[in-house]
Amino acid sequence: MSKATLAVVLSKLSHFIKPKTKLEQYPTPSEAAATILWDAHMKNLLFDKHVIDLGAGTGILGIGALLLDAKKVDFVDVDKDLVEQIKNNITIAEELTGQTLMPRANILIKDAITLTDKADLVIMNPPFGTKEAYIDTEFLKKASKLANDIYTFHKATTDKHIQSTAKTEGFLPVENFKFTFNLLPTMVQHQKKKHPVAITCWHFKNHSAK
Ligand code: SAH
Repeated sequence: MSKATLAVVLSKLSHFIKPKTKLEQYPTPSEAAATILWDAHMKNLLFDKHVIDLGAGTGILGIGALLLDAKKVDFVDVDKDLVEQIKNNITIAEELTGQTLMPRANILIKDAITLTDKADLVIMNPPFGTKEAYIDTEFLKKASKLANDIYTFHKATTDKHIQSTAKTEGFLPVENFKFTFNLLPTMVQHQKKKHPVAITCWHFKNHSAK
C-alpha cells in the first residue's frame, strides 16, 4: 500500500454522525492521519505491532494502522454509540482494499484514563481540553504508561506544556508535524464558522526504552 492509497482509503471513511460536543468529537483529516501513519510505518512501528488508538472516535487512526499491517489494534473510546460506526468503517476499508482487518480489531468502550493494557504504540487525537480542562494532558500521561512510542495531536498553543509533560513522564520528541485543522464552531469558543486551528502531532519516545 502506498501513502497516496492510504490517504484515499482513509478519506472514504464516515465522520461522526452526531458529534458530541462534550466529548470533543471531531475527526482527524485523512491527509494528516495518512502523514503520521506513514511516518510510523517508515520507522517500523506498525508492522506486526500491538497499537492502541486512544479516543478512537470513528476509528480513522486505528484503521490506518491495520491497513499498514499492525498485529492488533485496540480502539478505545468512552462513547458506546461509536461501536457500529467503527465496525462500518473497518468494513469500508476492507471492501476498498481487499484486506481482512476485522479479526485484528478490538473495540473497547471505556474511559481511556482507566486503561491498563500495554502495547507497542499509542496513536491518538485526544480531546484538546476545550470542554474538560487538562484532559489532553491526562491522555498523554496515560499513553506514556501504555507504550514506548506515542503519536499524539494537540493544539499548537500547548506545544511547550505538552513537551514538558512528556519530559516529566520520561518521553522526548523524536519529531513533530504541523497541520491546520478546520474545527467546527462547537470546538472553538465564540466562533460561528469553521475555524482554522494550528495543530502539532508529536512523535514521543520513552528515552529509557531500548
Ligand atoms: N481519534 C479520532 C477522534 C478524535 S475526537 C480521530 O482521530 O478522528 C476525540 C475522541 O475522544 C472522541 O471520539 C471522544 O468520544 C473520545 N473521548 C473523549 N473523552 C474520552 C475518555 N475519557 N476516554 C475515552 N475516549 C474519550
